[in-house]
Amino acid sequence: MNVDEQVSNYYNLLLKRNAGEPEFHQAVSEVLDSLKIVLAKDPHYADYGLIQRLCEPERQLIFRVPWVDDKGQVHVNRGFRVQFNSALGPYKGGLRFHPSVNLGIIKFLGFEQIFKNSLTGLPIGGGKGGSDFDPKGRTDGEIMRFCQSFMTELHRHIGEYRDVPAGDIGVGAREIGYLFGQYRRLANQHESGVLTGKGLTWGGSLVRTEATGYGCVYLTNEMMKAHGEDLEGQRVIVSGSGNVAVYAMQKAQELGAIVIGFSDSSGWVSTPKGVNMEKLREIKEQRRERVAVYADEVEGATFHSEGTIWSLAADVALPCATQNELNAEQAAMLADNGVRFVAEGANMPSTADAIEIFRERGIHFAPGKAANAGGVATSALEMQQNASRDSWTFEYTDARLQQIMSKIFKNIDKTAREYGHEGDYVIGANIAGFKKVADAMLAQGVI
Ligand code: GLU
Repeated sequence: MNVDEQVSNYYNLLLKRNAGEPEFHQAVSEVLDSLKIVLAKDPHYADYGLIQRLCEPERQLIFRVPWVDDKGQVHVNRGFRVQFNSALGPYKGGLRFHPSVNLGIIKFLGFEQIFKNSLTGLPIGGGKGGSDFDPKGRTDGEIMRFCQSFMTELHRHIGEYRDVPAGDIGVGAREIGYLFGQYRRLANQHESGVLTGKGLTWGGSLVRTEATGYGCVYLTNEMMKAHGEDLEGQRVIVSGSGNVAVYAMQKAQELGAIVIGFSDSSGWVSTPKGVNMEKLREIKEQRRERVAVYADEVEGATFHSEGTIWSLAADVALPCATQNELNAEQAAMLADNGVRFVAEGANMPSTADAIEIFRERGIHFAPGKAANAGGVATSALEMQQNASRDSWTFEYTDARLQQIMSKIFKNIDKTAREYGHEGDYVIGANIAGFKKVADAMLAQGVI
């Protein structure tokens, strides 16, 4: 059997066993495509059922999360934690609270996390969790009771050396606080390293809040430099306006770029003169309002409920909202409008067809596994600080983040070249991320 047939067989079996999980199929299919290239050169990576084991989570937990709203009504949500791979370290990955969450979404995120975490060079395995709970419009008390109920089940499955959750969409500092409080109560110990993204007075790390957005921009700038450019004076589109997007915008503007648009699920805002970060942060972080409010309050900004942010003419695009938010048609629009660099701040925001268009049209593209690894990398730095009961300065932690992002770019660039696909950072990231995990799994036997 040749490599193509072998990999197709694995994939067909995976489709059958994991029916109705299109996002998981999409994430696996992209990685398997890159692995064909590895297997043709190093066939031993298919030994000992390595590929089948890599695609099957070590453990998948699904649990009931009952909670009572402010009116006394009972709600029942579904909680998930997929502990995908712990060959390199404890399972590590965020929790997502969003109505779109189901097992397939958590599996795609957990699968991506394995390779992303491997690329950071730090000792962390891959996992992901969350719930179909919708935090939108819920009061503080409701959020707290939901988090407490969620943790009442999750606590028995996590731990500093076992599995270390963090935030993702719908889970920020407030939720991590309530989750940590309930864990501390149930475990009867202050185990800082069990969660990351904690508050600064109780074991959190400086830079963790900014890290995913900053890291994405650091990596973008590295990629641009490799092609003789940098962010100075460039027009940048950032989709989203959550934690990743806000700090990507902030760092891009600090490095001299002009952020000409951002969005949320209600629409997008065009900001031809750049973004007033103080105002945006006040609206999003303190007032928790939608982006239309920014356009109402800032001169020169316009809100659009129709059309797409990807129709703006720009140099750089950073999709920082959610999965599959950028399709082939929109990728072509970006190319037509002059975009030369795309880096993913979100997880899998570009569809497979969009990535194909980036390749065809010569757009330099950094996939999320590499471009958004700064968040989880800084979580690993938070774990280091917790283990040594220390806390580092902002400058030191930010310098570590910059080094990590620069090393990731060099690694994916070199790997793509080594395997004969110079400049294809999807292939570079998948192969470099894979090899480290695969070597550890081979060394540790059939587990
Ligand atoms: N949710 C983030 C991610 O997608 C961060 C995970 C973490 O810090 O563990 O990588």
